[in-house]
Amino acid sequence: MRTAAGPCGRFAPSTTGEAHPGTLLAALLAWLDARSLGGRFVVRLENLDVTRCRPAWADQLLADLTWLGLDWDELVDQAQAPARARHEAALDALAAAGRLYPCACTRADRAGGRRAPDGGWAYPNTCRGRALPDGGWRAVTEAVRVRLDDDRIDLVDEGGLDLSQTPAVEMGDPVVVRRDGVLAYQLVVVVDDAASGVTRVVRGRDIAPSTATQVMLQRLLGLPRPAYRHHFLLLEPRGDKLAKLHGSVPASALRARHDAASLCGLLAAAAGLVAAPALCTPRELLATFAWDRVTNDDRVATFTDHLEIA
Ligand code: GLU
Repeated sequence: MRTAAGPCGRFAPSTTGEAHPGTLLAALLAWLDARSLGGRFVVRLENLDVTRCRPAWADQLLADLTWLGLDWDELVDQAQAPARARHEAALDALAAAGRLYPCACTRADRAGGRRAPDGGWAYPNTCRGRALPDGGWRAVTEAVRVRLDDDRIDLVDEGGLDLSQTPAVEMGDPVVVRRDGVLAYQLVVVVDDAASGVTRVVRGRDIAPSTATQVMLQRLLGLPRPAYRHHFLLLEPRGDKLAKLHGSVPASALRARHDAASLCGLLAAAAGLVAAPALCTPRELLATFAWDRVTNDDRVATFTDHLEIA
């Protein structure tokens, strides 16, 4: 594990589609946070889900970040061998501690049970009593879960968002290896943040309900806990409820209509960092960047022939 002193931030996009305005906003805010502290910045491609990720999207995403004016000191590709080795070592450690168990439950089994803080159904830890087969977690053909401690995690993030939870109860023991063999996000995110020496996790509020689970996993694995901050989201009007943007405004369309300085200005204005959209670069925003100037309110983004954020 890297032990470099000093702040280190990261941006960890899933490469499941083209970047959209929310992707670029999240990258910009994480970069501003790290760089304004004089810290390192890591970009990590979260591409373990081979059923949904494509290398072309990863390449495009990195090109989009560079186009916007962002840079990084380390690029981590989760699908490469060094990452795989540390993910497996973490699973071996959890197995040796008697924490892993196979689980054949389906989403339908959980439906109608307890509502989880992320809006899904909590997993009621039904299979906790089951043991791994001979051959360990690698021999399991069902999902593998990790038995969390039933303790409450007291946690308020840097923006004042109360993330306190008893994750084993409110979310349920997380899946760490999916039924199809893909290693799951909740485990690899904590392993990879620690491996890169990440001290500051800045990300969208949609992930906030998972943070207590991740803190519990850090505790089980003896990994340091970074500082957390969860920022506002860009939303799109869709039906009654606002839905998170799902690539409906892909970066290719944005780049066809905006130059980098105009898009950066729009994102900065949406965040409250500048009074009105103006041409600017991420580097120019550094001088006056401060979190107390960043809005807490989600904003609605629309795209007709160009991006507007209300
Ligand atoms: N990969 C996640 C996403 O693209 C972000 C994970 C994180 O920041 O912890 O939404």
